[in-house]
Amino acid sequence: MRQPCVLLKYGELALKGRNRGRFEQQLLDNVRRSVAGLGPGVRVRRRRGVIVLSAPGRPGLHAELVARAREVIGVSVVQPALRVDRTPEAAAAAAVELARGARPDRSVPRFAVRARRRQKDFPLTSGELAALIGAEIGTELGWPVDLSTPDVEVAVEVDRREIFVAVERHHGRGGLPVGCSGRALALLSGGYDSPVAAHRAMRRGLACDFVHFTGAPLTGPSSAYKAYALVRRLARYQGEGRLWLIPLGHAQRELALVGAGSLHVVAQRRLMVRAADRLARRHGAQALVTGDSLGQVSSQTLSNLATVEDVATLPLLRPLLAWDKEEIMAEARRLGTAEISRLPDEDCCTLLAPRRVATRTTPGSLARLEQRLDVEATVENLLTKARLLHVAPEEEDVQDDAAGLADDIPARGDDADAPSAVAAS
Ligand code: ATP
Ligand code: MG
Repeated sequence: MRQPCVLLKYGELALKGRNRGRFEQQLLDNVRRSVAGLGPGVRVRRRRGVIVLSAPGRPGLHAELVARAREVIGVSVVQPALRVDRTPEAAAAAAVELARGARPDRSVPRFAVRARRRQKDFPLTSGELAALIGAEIGTELGWPVDLSTPDVEVAVEVDRREIFVAVERHHGRGGLPVGCSGRALALLSGGYDSPVAAHRAMRRGLACDFVHFTGAPLTGPSSAYKAYALVRRLARYQGEGRLWLIPLGHAQRELALVGAGSLHVVAQRRLMVRAADRLARRHGAQALVTGDSLGQVSSQTLSNLATVEDVATLPLLRPLLAWDKEEIMAEARRLGTAEISRLPDEDCCTLLAPRRVATRTTPGSLARLEQRLDVEATVENLLTKARLLHVAPEEEDVQDDAAGLADDIPARGDDADAPSAVAAS
């Protein structure tokens, strides 16, 4: 047996205690989902502390398996490896082959062999096995051993039915498997911050649903398209995502009519949070996530954050609270959301909002303003107009709601009574 495969490992620290089984099962499910689009022949096996990916008979897929494994949240190390018979000779032959192909910088590289037995019933100890393989590499390739700073490191792992040998080692995404912490509803604007915030939530094990408020019917569909594209990109990291589109335009006009003035932006944020909170409860999410960063803009002073949070009944999580804008931008570029966030749109937040934003608000002052509208009816009305889209990950060539979206979002000025994602009723 000589089978190329990919080993996926997860951080031991995260695995203390009773959560281990759930963590491992969730990760296994997520890995399966991430390779499901690659067609038949991909195998996902579970060993103690390791997930093993292979595609027997489809060697062309190997690089793609490595790439996908590196994207799965919860995987901390990815090692392309050879799976061989459970004998010292087979392990030594594989080690020589992989070491020879390793191409280190130095012409006569120094190497080390690190052997481990996950199953202890092997005839050699780890030390004996490493010595035997080391001697073989020394003889075949003429390389000297250096156990402290080797150029090439050969990892040998004895399992119950096979031995895995690897020389390459890549960092994975790390974090906790998406889903093992529960479900959250992320408030997604068209900006740079909220997609990064949602990704941070995913990295702590939260599966995310999304809600985006558009300015419809006062604005066109561009922000809905952006939200859709962002969810599609983020779905790479967690699989299909649900996106609710809610037209906020009428409610914004009401706020302007009752004279919200400098409280407009905070009042509008409270409406969003109220609607999102109710939506989350109806659809099984246990928390809300926003892209707020303390002090980034005037709507995000501590008192404004507190005034907005006041209307949430679920925990309101702000993963970027202490991040600088530059850090957020760098992460957005790394995730591939920056190129979408950069696109122009008609942001509902600036619609009808006066230039001056109150930086010190209290729940009381907002409650007084809100008495001038029927908040309960306004929120219910928003939820009635919510339109749900199921969004599949970007790279997968599967049918989803994208085609329907194009048909359903009317250009501004179109018949507002037509059934649509963003036109108000
Ligand atoms: P972002 O870059 O995410 O737009 P921002 O720095 O522009 O954030 P704000 O516009 O004050 O900040 O929004 C703060 C947070 O409120 C956003 O990160 C997002 O979670 C939520 N939010 C703002 N506008 C919308 C919207 N139209 N739909 C859904 N959520 C929104
Ligand atoms: Mg914004």
